[in-house]
Amino acid sequence: MRCPKCFHDDTKVLESRLSHDGRSIRRRRCCLKCNYRFTTYEKEEEFIFQIKKKDGRLEPYIREKALKSVQVACQKRPVTIEDMEALLLNMERKLQDEGSRVVLSQRIGDLIMEVLHTLDKVAYVRFASVYKEFKDTDEFMAELTALREKAAQAVQNRMVDQS
Ligand SMILES: [Zn+2]
Repeated sequence: MRCPKCFHDDTKVLESRLSHDGRSIRRRRCCLKCNYRFTTYEKEEEFIFQIKKKDGRLEPYIREKALKSVQVACQKRPVTIEDMEALLLNMERKLQDEGSRVVLSQRIGDLIMEVLHTLDKVAYVRFASVYKEFKDTDEFMAELTALREKAAQAVQNRMVDQS
């Protein structure tokens, strides 16, 4: 993207969010040469792909639907709608880079959980409990324990890093 002020070719994206109609992406950009900040509205060529469910059924991926499931998990949590949109945009871009037009529902869930895990632990557990369809409380507790161990591990790694 070219800087409108100095015409330098290299700019950095500071922030991406969906426009109100969800059809274009508003990006705050910064020129790497003159630091001029500007906003672009880019119509993202829609990446159309299908989700393959566990039982083999194929469904179109619908961003609004994915956003709703994330919103439900993030209810009353300190996660902004911008964070949620960025999560989905990044996920879509990742899938697009991988090039497959049919994506396992499990893969989508994993990608969303990966980011939720770093954003908010409560939202993560909520999303996981819906998405993984825990059959009983044992399964749910196992996931919680794994999460706690992961968190403890992360703290430990951080302590090792600092030493
Ligand atoms: Zn510039």
